[in-house]
Formats: sequence, structure tokens, C-alpha cells
Amino acid sequence: MPRILITGGAGFIGSHLCDRFIAEGDEVICLDNFLTGSPDNIAHLLGNPKFRFVQYNVTDFIYVEGKVDAVLHLASPASPIDYLKLPIQTLKVGSLGTHKTLGLAKAKGARYLLASTSETYGDPLVHPQREDYWGNVNPIGVRGVYDEAKRFSEAMTMAYHRYHNLDTRIVRIFNTFGPRMRLDDGRVLPAFMEQALTGKDLTAFGDGTQTRSFCYVDDLVEGIVRLLRSDFNEPVNIGNPDEITILQFAKEIIELTGSKSKIAFKPLPQDDPKVRQPDISRAREVLKWEPKVPRLEGLKRTIGYFKGKLGIK
Ligand code: UDP
Repeated sequence: MPRILITGGAGFIGSHLCDRFIAEGDEVICLDNFLTGSPDNIAHLLGNPKFRFVQYNVTDFIYVEGKVDAVLHLASPASPIDYLKLPIQTLKVGSLGTHKTLGLAKAKGARYLLASTSETYGDPLVHPQREDYWGNVNPIGVRGVYDEAKRFSEAMTMAYHRYHNLDTRIVRIFNTFGPRMRLDDGRVLPAFMEQALTGKDLTAFGDGTQTRSFCYVDDLVEGIVRLLRSDFNEPVNIGNPDEITILQFAKEIIELTGSKSKIAFKPLPQDDPKVRQPDISRAREVLKWEPKVPRLEGLKRTIGYFKGKLGIK
């Protein structure tokens, strides 16, 4: 029976992965230091004998007793606001944390999956982004702490694969949404939801013409599980190619929530990517995967969660 270790398992995506493996009857060891994760995300799993939680900072040496079949490294601050607030921790978990988790996988003979990101493409000059595009990243910009840590973590993962023959996977995760996103993580979706549901102006940064492509979390989890079970070692984009401008997105959320909120324009943060859309040809071909949940359907499933967090009926 597989025994799976997930770092960042109390985070938004990590906790959905814990749920998925537990539902399949696997054993899950979840490590998280709650820097940006939350006990609420895993509270429902705590009584389960197949689930073990250890509060831990994965930049330190990781000791686990017994066998481990797979290590999934999800731990990292992942929203621009979080990694601006936590620049050193972001760099450490992407570099030292990746090294420690790779070392653990090697010691246990486990398969390894790195959660990488569309941010490895930076402010992309190729659109949509294919995995063979090397990116356009400002190493010393404010987003560099995340982008470069993730680029380093990909390099380290490939080095363990090539030099130690470690069985590795790299998923490049594009904008993902769903229940358990933190209301205050500063990302556009929780920000707009909170603003629309409480009657505040929706804060569109810049002129709102920048684009993003949003994937519902269940689709992402399915893609990650398929990648883990494949034999493919090169990076794979997982995301929803349905692209939308931030301004259209604000209007969509206002309409969907039936809100009377208006849109207010705020300055564009430094190095904010102008466009982002995954080319998912590789995922389609190698994993036979593509997203199933349209954005509107995903948003409807997510509104209830945010209402609950805001105490709105
Ligand atoms: N954004 C916005 N209003 C907000 C928060 C974000 O207009 O209140 C914009 C942000 O400038 C970016 C896009 O929405 O262009 C997505 O931002 P997010 O922080 O969700 O993540 P990113 O995709 O930039 O990593």
C-alpha cells in the first residue's frame, strides 16, 4: 500500500492532494509549518489512522521512519503577497526544502514530484507557454524570490534525476482556484470574491488588460496524480487554457455574486506578467489529461466556501 509524504500538505493544493490519496486508501504523511497553510484544511483528516500530520519546517533535515513510496514537494508561499512578505522563507523552501525532500526520496527509493509553477516563465515573451520555453524572469525583482527558487528547484530535481537516477516528476502549476484558498492571500480570485461579497470596490491592478487562465483545483489534482503515476520526467504544464483579462474576470465575479460593487483601478505591481496561458499539448498527449470543470462552474462551487469564511448565508 503506497505511503505518500506531502510537504505543504496543509496548504490549499496540498490538502486537496491529501484528501485524494486518503480517498484512494493510501497512507499520507503531511508536513507543514503553517507559514501559509492552515490547520483548518486538514482538521477533517486528523482522526484518520492512515493520515499523519507533523508540524515541521522542511528546510531542516527530514527524518521519517519506515518506507515512503512517493514524496510530493508542495511547500512554499505561493501568492505574490505572501512571497513579498516572506522572501527569505520562499527562497529557502524552494532551494533547501527541495534539497531535503530530494534527499529523503533518494534515501527511501521513493518517487519524487516537484510542484513548480508557471512563474518559471516569468513575464512570458512566448504565448501560450509551452514547456520548452525558457522564460523571461527578472532575478532581482520582487517576484524573483519565488521564480528563481522554483527554477533552482527544477534544476536540482533534474540533477537528482540525472546523477542519482531518482524517479522524478515536475508539474508546472498555473493559476488554480477552489475551496481552501486563503481569503487574505492577496490573489485576484479571493480578493475579488471578498470584495464582491462584502460590497467593496473590486481592485483591478493596472488597466486590467493583463490576462490569466484559471484552473479548478479538482482538475489540477487529477493532473498531478496522473503525472505522478506516469513515467514522464520532463516538466508538464497543468492548468486551464481558458484565458481571460482581469477586467473581464472582475465583471464576471460581480455578475456571478449578484453584487453591486464597482471596479476601482490600482497601480500594477512590479513585474506583473502581462499574459499567462498554459499550452497543455504535453499533458493531453502524455497524461491524456485536460481540465473538465469550466471556470464558471468552478466559481459557483467556490462561492459557498468564501461565503462561509465571511459568515455570509
Ligand atoms: N490582481 C488584481 N487585483 C487584485 C489582485 C490581483 O487586479 O486585487 C491582478 C494581478 O495584478 C495580476 C492578476 O490579478 O495581474 C493575478 O494576480 P494573482 O495575485 O492572483 O497571481 P499571479 O497570477 O500574478 O501570480
